[in-house]
Amino acid sequence: MTTILAIHAHPDDIETLGGGTMALLAALGHRVRIVTVTAGDCGSNETDPAQTARIRRAEAEASAALIGADYRCADIPDLSVFNDDPCRRRVTEMIRWAAPDIVLTASPADYHPDHEAVSVLVRDACFAASVPNYATGDAPILAGIPHLYFMDPIGGRDREGVRVVPDFGVDVGDHFATKQAMLAAHKSQDSWVSKQHDISDHQASMEAWTRRRGRDFGVPLAEGFRQYRHHPYPRTALLQALLGEQLVALVP
Ligand SMILES: [Zn+2]
Repeated sequence: MTTILAIHAHPDDIETLGGGTMALLAALGHRVRIVTVTAGDCGSNETDPAQTARIRRAEAEASAALIGADYRCADIPDLSVFNDDPCRRRVTEMIRWAAPDIVLTASPADYHPDHEAVSVLVRDACFAASVPNYATGDAPILAGIPHLYFMDPIGGRDREGVRVVPDFGVDVGDHFATKQAMLAAHKSQDSWVSKQHDISDHQASMEAWTRRRGRDFGVPLAEGFRQYRHHPYPRTALLQALLGEQLVALVP
C-alpha cells in the first residue's frame, strides 16, 4: 500500500483540482491523506474567521471521509501563508505526520498568493522532512524525500494567462460522481464563490474545468499533474505507475 498526501491551501482546492484522482487512489486501496494549510477562514461574508474556520474544517473532514481519507489542517491563517520559517516548519510537521510516498500539491504559479506560497513551502518541506536536525514537532523524521507532484493551477493558467501544460493526466470518469460529492461537502463555498469569484455555480465550474482537461487528454473527464524532478527529489514515475489504464497522455 502506498501513502499519498494531497496538500493545498484551502478546503475545496484539492477537490477541484485532484478530487477524482484521490478518489481513484483510495478505491485502489492506497492510504490517502488530505491536508489544508489554512482552514479557509477568510472565505465568507457571513461568518467571522473563527466560525468560518470551524465550518470549513468540518466540510473538509466530511469530504475526506467520503473516500476514507484522513484530514488535517495546518491552521495557518488564510491569506497569511508565506515562505518563512514558522510556515515551513508547520508544513514540514504535516508532511512528517502523513509520512507519504507521494505528495501532490499546489502549482508553483497560480491565481492566489496562498496557493503559490503552499507550492514552494511543500517543495522545500519535502526536502526538510528527512533532515534530522530540522526540528518541527512530535512526528517522526522521514526516511527519505517523497515523490512530489504539482496539481494544475485554477483554470490551468499562470498569472500572465499562459497555459500550464501537465506532464500526464488521470482519467477520472469512473470517480467523477465522488469528486462531485466531495466538492458538494463544501456547502459554505456556494455563496462565497458566487460573491468573490463571480462563479454562480461552483459545481458547474468544477465540471467545466474537468471536462476541459479531459479534452486535452482525449477522455471525457481528467485531471492534470506535473512531476517535480529536480535533484535530489525522486524521479521515478511512482504515481503514474499506480494509475493503470487511468493514466492518460496529452493529445498531440
Ligand atoms: Zn484555494
